[in-house]
Amino acid sequence: MPGFRHLEAKVWASVVLALCLGAALTVAIAQYDRRLGERSQSSRIEVRLQAAAFELERTLSALAQLNHDVAATLLPERAITTAKLRPLAEKLVNDHRRIIDVAVSHGLEVVFVHPVEGNEAVLGMHFDTRPEQMEGVRRAIERRDTVIAGPLPLVQNGRPGVIVRTPVFHPATDGEPGAFWGMVSTVVEFEGLLEDAGLSSADLPFTLAIRGREGSGAQGPPFHGDAALFRGTHVAVDVALPAGGRWRLGATPRADDSEAAARIARIYTAGAAISLALALLLLYRGGAFGSGGGAGRLHPFLPAGVRIGIRAFLIGVSLLVLLPILAIGGWVSYRNAQQSTERFSQALAREIGDRLHDRVAAFFEVPRHFVAFNVEQARAGLLPYEKPEDLMRGFLSQIRQQPLLTFVSMGTADGQYYAASRPPHGADKALRMLHSRAADDYVMHIFRTDQTGRSTSLMSTGKGRFDARRRPWFEAALDSGSLAWYPAYRYAINDAEGAYDTMGIGMSAPLFDPHGSFIGVATADVALSQLSEFLRELTAGTQATAFIAETNGLMLANSALAPIYRLDGEEAVRIPLAESDSPLIRAAARPLAASAQPEGSASLPLGNGNFLFEWHRFTLAQGPTLTIGLILPTAHFEAMASDTLRNILYLALAVMILSLMIGLFVSDWVARPLRSLSRASSRLARGDWQPASHEPSPIREVAALFATMDSMAAQLKRHTETLEHKVRERTEELEAANHKLAMLSLTDGLTGISNRRHFDQMLHSEWARALRAAQPLAILMIDIDLFKKYNDHYGHQAGDECLIRVAHAIQSCVKRAGDLAARYGGEEFAVICAESDLEKATALASILCHAVAAQALPHMLSPHGRVTVSIGVAAAVPAPEVAPETLLRRADEALYRAKAGGRNRVDAETGNPQPLPAGRA
Ligand code: GH3
Ligand code: MG
Ligand code: MG
Repeated sequence: MPGFRHLEAKVWASVVLALCLGAALTVAIAQYDRRLGERSQSSRIEVRLQAAAFELERTLSALAQLNHDVAATLLPERAITTAKLRPLAEKLVNDHRRIIDVAVSHGLEVVFVHPVEGNEAVLGMHFDTRPEQMEGVRRAIERRDTVIAGPLPLVQNGRPGVIVRTPVFHPATDGEPGAFWGMVSTVVEFEGLLEDAGLSSADLPFTLAIRGREGSGAQGPPFHGDAALFRGTHVAVDVALPAGGRWRLGATPRADDSEAAARIARIYTAGAAISLALALLLLYRGGAFGSGGGAGRLHPFLPAGVRIGIRAFLIGVSLLVLLPILAIGGWVSYRNAQQSTERFSQALAREIGDRLHDRVAAFFEVPRHFVAFNVEQARAGLLPYEKPEDLMRGFLSQIRQQPLLTFVSMGTADGQYYAASRPPHGADKALRMLHSRAADDYVMHIFRTDQTGRSTSLMSTGKGRFDARRRPWFEAALDSGSLAWYPAYRYAINDAEGAYDTMGIGMSAPLFDPHGSFIGVATADVALSQLSEFLRELTAGTQATAFIAETNGLMLANSALAPIYRLDGEEAVRIPLAESDSPLIRAAARPLAASAQPEGSASLPLGNGNFLFEWHRFTLAQGPTLTIGLILPTAHFEAMASDTLRNILYLALAVMILSLMIGLFVSDWVARPLRSLSRASSRLARGDWQPASHEPSPIREVAALFATMDSMAAQLKRHTETLEHKVRERTEELEAANHKLAMLSLTDGLTGISNRRHFDQMLHSEWARALRAAQPLAILMIDIDLFKKYNDHYGHQAGDECLIRVAHAIQSCVKRAGDLAARYGGEEFAVICAESDLEKATALASILCHAVAAQALPHMLSPHGRVTVSIGVAAAVPAPEVAPETLLRRADEALYRAKAGGRNRVDAETGNPQPLPAGRA
């Protein structure tokens, strides 16, 4: 049966590692995919917004043209001829399904509407009673051209409508623009316009917001959609309105993007499946399913043959699992911190940028306000241009109201000039009055003023003639015929202290008296150095650098107070962003030039750190498009991310130390019983049967191992004991066998001379030989005298020694070939003497007897005082019917006689032996 319980720890470790890695990889891929998805979604949205913007521009300019055409029919008579207007209006309304009505006003009162039905409320309406309507009306009059007004809630039904307004003027006289007569307005359903542009359906894949009411572009709250949209990350596309101004379309992807969610789900599913498959593969290789090959080498982390302790192994494995988790977790948190600080810094930059934008936009409204006021004054006959002192005092009180203004002035039709001014430079901040009169031959006079507005002292006079008609602002007003911005130009005021050594930008407009005759040009402007100071104030305390530039890249102002122009002789040459003295502004020039987006952001990596660059483009009404740029150092945001990283590292370190300690504790807990087991087994291997005292282990497998080990040891002990017993038995048997073998041999164990067996064999063979050769054969029977007593007196050991000595003595005398000395038994010896008769044998016996006695072995209990032998001799020529034993018996009888004769002597008996009974042979 396959068993998970038997898997090695490293298999589990690799499975866990594979699962962790799989999970981390899946999350990373999903994140990456989500980002890619967002990016492609953004570009899809941008394409769609651009298409919609194009469609809106097309529709609005067509409507503007139609409205203009209707207005043109009024021009010849300046009278409402309903008969003429109605068919035109009818055609317009029929051709364009989104048009609600076409209205004509005389002055500010509506006197014609088509269709009347549904639009009754409009007829007879006075624009000046409706401030929301008045804004567009005023704009059209000031511009003297068609404008797109609104969107605003319509008088008819309260629903949002866009109004195309074309003003109609009296004809110009004497080269002067004509006065306002009336207005043609076409009202269009705003939501219908959106629908035509493909932006109305509720199932748009993005959230849409539009801002720029009255064509103000990037300014103000949205008039459609959610205000919060512009504060977050969004795609923005501008709609250029046909008569100037912009709407801004902003969009963000919808959160509930089910397609992306499904894709992410697929990635997670695939990741989980692959991780599981990998884990199963590892388990299979580890042997979880039987013959997976786990029995073979499976040391993914160790070279073959290397052995490590269980504690090191456990800690190593836990670290191996922990480290990737910590690394991946830490990395993800760091990235999150980075992203959120990035988002935070972007949000902050946007916040500052929005504030900056609003303030700058308000700033640029100031000149408009003052010029428009003076235009109205002139029209009402309240501008005292014929009393220059009063005129200048009026200007002075105006400029005192608005600290940002540099000049409020008027150039008369004959080129005289009257102005109030706040010097943009220098320590002397007292307001000035300036005039250049025909009476003075157009020489500029500059006076200092006191608090009451009286001129106190003449400060300086100009060098050449100052003819107002030659100034850029004057020419611009005549060119446009209405209130308009003029391009930045260098002041031509020759102030002794150089207080006017800068450039200015502002608005100017032609002035008409109550009779509509041209009386001059009014202007209000700001010095660009003032604008720079203003930016500097706005960004104070934010570490940000702000700048304002025109679309052609020429700088207008910057908070770094870097120069915005240089002098080439008398000529002022404007400096583009890319050539600014400020490296930050220079760096911002490139991303700005590369993007046509109305707003955006980029990161600027500069030598001393990273910067976040945010820009907005906005178009001044009747003026140029300006870019407001904001550059923020991101170092302190990055510090937040690196703080997070440091915290993560500390946390990781703490977790590692803690896990190391836990690992040590756990591994000790697990390893100590195993180590004692290992010690017990090596003791067992040395043959120490002492039962081991085990550390109790909480692990089932280890406890089972202990039990097995104990029973194995007991079994081994039993086996060994049985074996020893058997060896003893075998040894005894072997000894008995050896003994038997000795008996079977021919030598006597004690004395080393031949034994009885050999003697018997030799007796029979010598007997047979003597019989064949008919030769005599003799036998000597030798017996040690009183040997019992010797033993009794000297001990058995000494008796053995004595036997050996006697045997050697006998052996030393028996040297002839064919003779044999043998121990016959006990203390008896026998000698066979071949080819010897009784005489020869008796002689040998005597020699023997003497040889033993000559050894002089002491024998206290013998009458001879020494060890002696008695010898019986018998000899015979064998006969076939006689057995050799006869000869033995006769020698024995002779021995008996020698004993009886007193011992230590030889006795011989002659004569043939008596035949023995046949069976005994
Ligand atoms: P006799 O002079 O009549 O022969 O007297 P004896 O004492 O020698 O005669 P006996 O036959 O009564 O005694 C023989 C003794 O020899 C008996 C035994 O103790 C001793 N004996 C026999 N074989 C051995 C042996 O191998 N070693 C020792 N020490 N003594 C032996
Ligand atoms: Mg004896
Ligand atoms: Mg004896």
